Amino acid sequence: MPTPGSIYFHFPFCTRKCPYCHFYVIPNRDQMLFLKALQKEWELRRPQIENRDLASLYFGGGTPTLCVAGIEQTLAQISAPEITVETNPEDVTPELMKHLHNLGVNRVSIGVQSLNNPLLKHLGRTHTAQKAIDAIHITKQAGIDNITIDLMYELPHQTLETWKETVEQAVALPITHLSLYNLTIEPHTVFHKKKEKLLPHLPDEETATAMLEYACNRFEEVGLHRYEISAFAKKGQVSVHNTGYWTGREFLGLGPSAFSYWGGKRFQNSCSLSKYIRALDEERLPVDFEEKLPPLASLHEQIAIGLRLTEGIALPTVPPSTRALLTALAKEGWLTYEKNHARLTEKGRLFYDTVAEKVILAKPKV
Ligand code: SF4
Repeated sequence: MPTPGSIYFHFPFCTRKCPYCHFYVIPNRDQMLFLKALQKEWELRRPQIENRDLASLYFGGGTPTLCVAGIEQTLAQISAPEITVETNPEDVTPELMKHLHNLGVNRVSIGVQSLNNPLLKHLGRTHTAQKAIDAIHITKQAGIDNITIDLMYELPHQTLETWKETVEQAVALPITHLSLYNLTIEPHTVFHKKKEKLLPHLPDEETATAMLEYACNRFEEVGLHRYEISAFAKKGQVSVHNTGYWTGREFLGLGPSAFSYWGGKRFQNSCSLSKYIRALDEERLPVDFEEKLPPLASLHEQIAIGLRLTEGIALPTVPPSTRALLTALAKEGWLTYEKNHARLTEKGRLFYDTVAEKVILAKPKV
């Protein structure tokens, strides 16, 4: 009996592109061709999904709530125990949230990012702190209790004080889950072009560490348990979908730029809406890139990803070279390692990227 899988749908439309965003996003426009192509992709993929239990569906982007017809079209054909839709505060209305609730959506992810108006402006966001707070209450009143928000720290012009204010406002909200990100300035973004100007306004390392510590402590105090490096959840409310990514569950990604891990292979759809539409018009899957990692390389990747979880990762029997690597990392104080289990220490969590790099770069080539 195959284990359950998950499906991710990428809806690429946004009202405008945020200057720090590195996702495949395009301005909102006529969606007819996208909807037709998504339906075609679904029909081509359906034989792979039939007879397979699904743990979760996730509508991400972009801003899926700018394309409700796509959510309707999909949920008329498929369901899962957890169905998440991403949205932005400025798009949340009582009518929209009630409609999503009626369609079967039981989890909403709101891109709050900050609850400080000047910082929201610096981030190029069009909502205000009050709008974000209202959006959370509106979602709850519409009957969707499982609400997660994204918050960002280490922002240009952000101080420890303004961060503490945002955290205090956030913990008073009726949320069940929270994802916490520090700003990374990615290539091909507006922030990257302005990097030199932004750098002097970023919090220093000590402040950034204090921001993270403050948030983690306050979240734990209100029952938002840090179950993954950047994810916090109330009891019983961990993200089923995202936990799949960290535990190696297979997932199919539909829509332009979407990644998949399915049938032991990793692949990605074309990062161009027109190419995506053209492929499906010609009855072809819009896959641009595909690879199958050798078993040991795949094991090392799974260890690196699994270490993100607070509980760590249960290990299968690993080869001597992997054992030696984990033992060396344990000696340096990055993780605890017993025969069948590895878990990051506090120090390891602070420097997760370094640990992950060591594990992945050390992956055997066979
Ligand atoms: S709303 Fe989200 S997906 Fe859209 S541009 Fe901004 S950060 Fe990117």
